[in-house]
Amino acid sequence: MLKEECGIFGIYGIPEASRYVYLGLNFLQHRGQEACGIVSTDGRYLYKQVGLGKVTDFFDEEKISYLEGTKAIGHVRYSTTGSSTLINAQPISAVTSKGAIAIAHNGNITNASEIRESLIKKGKIFHSTSDSEVILHLISDAPFEDIVNSCRWAFRQLEGAYSLLILTRDFIIAARDPLGFRPLSMGYIGSGLLDEPETIVFSSEDSAFTIVEATKRKDVNPNEMVVCSQAGINFMKIVDKESEKKQCVFELIYFSKPSSVVFDKLVYDFRFKIGEILAKEFPVEADYVIPVPDSGIVAALGYSKYSGIPFAMGLIRSHYIGRTFIEPSQKIRDFGVKMKFIPVRELIEGKRIVLIDDSIVRGTTSKKIIKMVRSLNPKEIHFRVASPPVKNPCFYGIDFSTREELLANKLNTFEEIAEFIGADSVGYISVESMFENTGINKKDFCKACFDGLYPTKLREFKKEGFENDIKQDDIR
Ligand code: SF4
Repeated sequence: MLKEECGIFGIYGIPEASRYVYLGLNFLQHRGQEACGIVSTDGRYLYKQVGLGKVTDFFDEEKISYLEGTKAIGHVRYSTTGSSTLINAQPISAVTSKGAIAIAHNGNITNASEIRESLIKKGKIFHSTSDSEVILHLISDAPFEDIVNSCRWAFRQLEGAYSLLILTRDFIIAARDPLGFRPLSMGYIGSGLLDEPETIVFSSEDSAFTIVEATKRKDVNPNEMVVCSQAGINFMKIVDKESEKKQCVFELIYFSKPSSVVFDKLVYDFRFKIGEILAKEFPVEADYVIPVPDSGIVAALGYSKYSGIPFAMGLIRSHYIGRTFIEPSQKIRDFGVKMKFIPVRELIEGKRIVLIDDSIVRGTTSKKIIKMVRSLNPKEIHFRVASPPVKNPCFYGIDFSTREELLANKLNTFEEIAEFIGADSVGYISVESMFENTGINKKDFCKACFDGLYPTKLREFKKEGFENDIKQDDIR
């Protein structure tokens, strides 16, 4: 099963800002459940609450009431770099030479260790293992007095993926790295006129705007900084020379909600189309098309529509079951999968079924799901995967395994993969088909986890023993 990454949400210029951020983070909870946090300001102080667990579990009325002010940023975290301890929970904050600063970061800085080493040599002290802390130090270290130029100078030192929200007593600054790996949208509550003081909202996914009754204005562009202050809103470039976009196609495949428009594409439409193409390229006679919920649902609807095979919710997801460590001492086999999915016997027993999932990473979860479905004696199980085969690790904020662990890298043919996971047949969409048929422009997307062509330098990972994982770096 894929691990999700992070979500960020911020709001500038509204009373009780932290309550709006709380609602936004709740909406973005699917992007990370390990930790969450909000920092707010009333223009005098920064107020901070961060903790482990989900937003509704951690925050209560007392914590939200503490977060005073008209500006706030928040974060939900799945750890990508650094362990999942409280010390790595975000937003991170510090009192620096530029005043008090808080940062919420989605992505992964690929030259973080290099920067960290050089800053430590200069006497800087780090409090966490998070790559995001280097950004804070760089801003503090920047050879400028003001926060805007200091941020821009700091961002220019970074390689890799960052969608960021920075909060100071006077500013919220939003930024997206020059290649635009991770999404970030900007909305407003109010008139929508650029020169009028108004409430500005930022979110990893635009469909979160609905919950705070905001209207989308635009995506923060790759290589763009948006500066919100009493002086109004300013848009500026991070680096002078524009590069090609390399947005993460997995945001469309898996991470984002179907209701979001990510990189100018409605996620629902993208997944539905992939389902249709899978049905066209890998047809099979069957009684039901059954999704692995939730992320396989839209592709399964597309498969069903194109093939004419009825759609059925043959696996029900137990949304209210969190992680549990209480299990009979006589271990229940595949306990985690059984806690998460409940198979519907009447839709499976004696039937030929097409099972649709968003992706296969190591193959262990697919294997367990198929084993559970098999135990109800279907006639046939045909597995269809709504992404190309994942063959390479991601260094931009997604937790895939090393190349050796990735199933599509270990096994060469669909027949071998089908045998490993226990299906009667397997079909994946190809990289070419995915780009040709879904109306997105191949050149604007990172697809390194499929083809190994990483769009940034990855010197550090070579040093750290990933040399077998990087076939081609320094491409641009
Ligand atoms: S390697 Fe894959 S998951 Fe990582 S940013 Fe690129 S497309 Fe996204």
